[in-house]
Amino acid sequence: MNNYFEWKDSESTCRCGWSGPNTEIKDMETFAELFEYFCPTCHEKLGIVSYPSLWQVQEAAERGNPEAMHMWQKFTSATPGEDDG
Ligand SMILES: [Zn+2]
Repeated sequence: MNNYFEWKDSESTCRCGWSGPNTEIKDMETFAELFEYFCPTCHEKLGIVSYPSLWQVQEAAERGNPEAMHMWQKFTSATPGEDDG
């Protein structure tokens, strides 16, 4: 799994019996270009996901992914200093 947005739309299963959507996973360890994610129940490492590249953000935004559209707006925002929260 190396596409952040596909990962977000997918589910994970752990050998401890936990399974659920990846959006429920809050237990992550982040690195410069990727993050590892862990089972919310037993903290077993479940996998590694790369952060989306700019073209992956654009592609997902064009498909209507709300998170990607938000990211893309930030990337293409030409008003630095104006923080919309
Ligand atoms: Zn587990």
